Amino acid sequence: RVLFDSEMRRERVQVVVRCRPLQSKEIAEGRVSCVSVDTQRCTVQVRNTKNLDMPPKLFTFDRTYGSLSTQREIYDDVAHSIVHSVMCGYNGTILAYGQTASGKTFTMEGLDSPSEMRGIIPNAFEDIFAHIEQSQSSDHFLVRASYLEIYNEEIRDLLAQTSQNPHRLELKENGDAGVYVKNLTSVTVQSVPDINRLLSVHHFYTTPSASVETSAGPCAEHPDTGQSVIRVGKLNLVDLAGSERLNKTGATGDRFRELTNINWSLSALGNVISALVDGKNTHIPYRDSKLTRLLQDSLGGNTRTVMIANIGPADYNFDESISTLRYANRAK
Ligand code: ADP
Ligand code: MG
Repeated sequence: RVLFDSEMRRERVQVVVRCRPLQSKEIAEGRVSCVSVDTQRCTVQVRNTKNLDMPPKLFTFDRTYGSLSTQREIYDDVAHSIVHSVMCGYNGTILAYGQTASGKTFTMEGLDSPSEMRGIIPNAFEDIFAHIEQSQSSDHFLVRASYLEIYNEEIRDLLAQTSQNPHRLELKENGDAGVYVKNLTSVTVQSVPDINRLLSVHHFYTTPSASVETSAGPCAEHPDTGQSVIRVGKLNLVDLAGSERLNKTGATGDRFRELTNINWSLSALGNVISALVDGKNTHIPYRDSKLTRLLQDSLGGNTRTVMIANIGPADYNFDESISTLRYANRAK
């Protein structure tokens, strides 16, 4: 237990990078890769193919994954231990960051078939229910799921019945429960198909976040009180909005407002994560955005977080890839 705690502190926030393969469309267009990934050294190197005199830029992370990485490998390396710590009563968060089309949704959700193409979210559900099935019969598990998205700094309930207004849910704070979303739909689920059905509703806008809360007990006795313990852990699975830079998109009107909010929220997240990683900060700026407030109990403290920064390898993505790697590097 003591070992586990110190291990947790060391590994509290992990930042990994995944570079997807060139797509056939990109190859057909004559795009070349400007990224090389060294999985042994955990580095990513990016060359400016327009200016080969410039030295390549080198970044180091907790782990790096190139075009040959598999969904299984990513799950086993970065998600599995977080999912298991959630079932032991800790909170955990898995975030996918990157520009549009860099592979965030592929990493989080993946494809339905073949099964090897499934991403972190379905693999996490499989893992949770397999664990429940194997656990001692004295262990009573309760699994609840909720699903929301953040759009223009508004929280929308993706599981709300159509008769309810799913928009503008409020964040509340209360001593015991911590930060929670008032009136957010939360559904008890008993199997993987149950939960898949729920989360197959479409998120229309930006930053969908699925949470799975597991409660287990009574299965162990508290060492001091001798009372049986109920362990409650919450897993947040977040597919962040595309990180493309505002000035490059030429957006106007509603889209401009939307992108301004996204940039704001992603930079607030970066600030919180870098403050946590730094470890010297007494003030963590959770209050700066809806996303960081929402995740307040699941980022920092006795929780585990992994950010998966996704990039595309093609040369035309050079600027965006560099900007993603800088962001991720700062968070590290
Ligand atoms: P994002 O969610 O960041 O906008 P997607 O996950 O939709 O990007 O990925 C864009 C496209 O690239 C999709 O067609 C997806 O299936 C494909 N893709 C992304 N990552 C990989 C990968 N590691 N291996 C194979 N295909 C990938
Ligand atoms: Mg996506």
